[in-house]
Formats: sequence, C-alpha cells, structure tokens
Amino acid sequence: MFAAMMAFRHRLAAATVVAVVALACTGTPARSDEPPDPWAQPRAALIDTIAARGIRDQRVLAAMRRVPRHEFVPPELHAHAYDDRPLPIGFDQTISQPFVVAAMTEAARIAPRARVLEIGTGSGYQAAVLVALDADVYSIEIIEPLARRTHALLSRLGYRLHLRIGDGYAGWPEAAPFNAIIVTAAPEQIPQALVRQLAIDGRLVIPLGTVNGAQHLDVITRRRDGTTSETLFPVRFVPMTGGSGS
Ligand code: SAH
Repeated sequence: MFAAMMAFRHRLAAATVVAVVALACTGTPARSDEPPDPWAQPRAALIDTIAARGIRDQRVLAAMRRVPRHEFVPPELHAHAYDDRPLPIGFDQTISQPFVVAAMTEAARIAPRARVLEIGTGSGYQAAVLVALDADVYSIEIIEPLARRTHALLSRLGYRLHLRIGDGYAGWPEAAPFNAIIVTAAPEQIPQALVRQLAIDGRLVIPLGTVNGAQHLDVITRRRDGTTSETLFPVRFVPMTGGSGS
C-alpha cells in the first residue's frame, strides 16, 4: 500500500482537486506562446460521439472533455487514444472503452464531493475522470508494478486521490461508506464486502459474468432494508482476480 497521497481535510482536498484539474487542463493555452493542444479536437469529437450514443449527464461529458486520455495509453497507441474503443495498457490489461467509462460514471451518479471507490485502477483513466468530477476518490489495483506506474502518472498529471495496492474484493473498509463503488474488472458474483461498504442509497456499478461467457453491467443500490438492482447492457471486461476478501 502506498500512503503517499493525501491527509488533507475533505473540503480542502476537494478545493485542491479543482485547482489541480484546472491546471492539468490543456484545452486552452494560458499564454500565447504555448503550443495549441493537438489532442483537443479529437478529444472533443470523441465526447460528441459518446453523447450521440446516449450519455446525457453533462457533468460526466464535461469531465471527460478535460481528461487527456492519450496520457493513459502507451505512446505507440496515442493515435488511437480518442477512438471509442478499449486499448492494451500492458500487464495483459486494458483501458476501458470511453463510452463504457461514461456509462459507468453516469450510472454511479457522482455528486461533487462524493466519496467513490474504484476497484481496478489500471491505467488510471477512470480514476482521473472521477477526480475531474470533484469526487473524493479511492482506487485499488492488484498488479503492483501497474499500480506504481499509474501512481507516478497521476501524480505527474496533478490528479489527487487515494491509491492502494491490493485485492479489491475486500474493498477499503477504513474509508467506507462510499456513495458509489465502480468495479472495472468482472467477478462472477457480487463481492458482498463491497455491498456492505456502500452508504444508504449508494450505488455499486459492476460488470458481472464469466470471461468467455456473457457479462453484463449491473447497478446495485443499497437501501435501508436491502438492495435493488438493475442490468444496463452487455459488456466485456478483464476478469477480476484475487478473491481473498469475499
Ligand atoms: N479502470 C481501469 C480499467 C483497468 S482494467 C482504467 O481506467 O484503465 C481492470 C483492472 O482491474 C486491471 O488493471 C486489473 O489488474 C485490475 N484488477 C483485477 N482484479 C482485481 C482485484 N481483485 N483487485 C484490484 N484490482 C483488480
């Protein structure tokens, strides 16, 4: 586990996030001698595509307009960073398709200052989108060298969040309850520890199913007297490994 990230009070951390994300935003050069961002146009086109495919939450679209996805993919794939498709990121893992990131984030209904847990940090892209939404983000990655690489990247880009190396099946009990939990690798069954770490009315957005069989994206909402669930659409995620804490 790395404790590197923040011991700020919640409100201060949120304020810092806004400032940091604004600085990390390269769409509008602050000085005339700065080169224009060559990725601004393809990024805007990608967000238009996602909106046309049915994402309505303007806060989610605005957040994704600010996150430089090319930074989260290997250099040789930069030219494809703004295609609406998943891409390999090493370690046999993938960065999710942007439409799926948007749909999961929309389904999680992230309010400003919401406390959000992500299982499967991977490239860090989904986590960066959550930070850009002004959420207080906790994210767990099981592959240690990938987690370390992504920690360095997110720090360099100025995104502030809490990262942990470990098995996401157990969640992050010390930081619970969460307003939303987004799982970006597919288990076969719902990890009950994650349901227990939801706040009342908190939402767990999770792909469920087997690797080669059908997977579908579900939203489980915790209620005072149990849970409700709905299925959104079929998906294809890398399998969730580990499983010690379920
Ligand atoms: N959210 C990522 C998607 C990465 S792919 C992104 O935006 O790029 C899914 C990630 O989940 C992989 O990095 C994989 O190593 C991780 N993972 C799989 N099982 C896990 C587990 N039990 N706990 C934490 N991370 C896990």
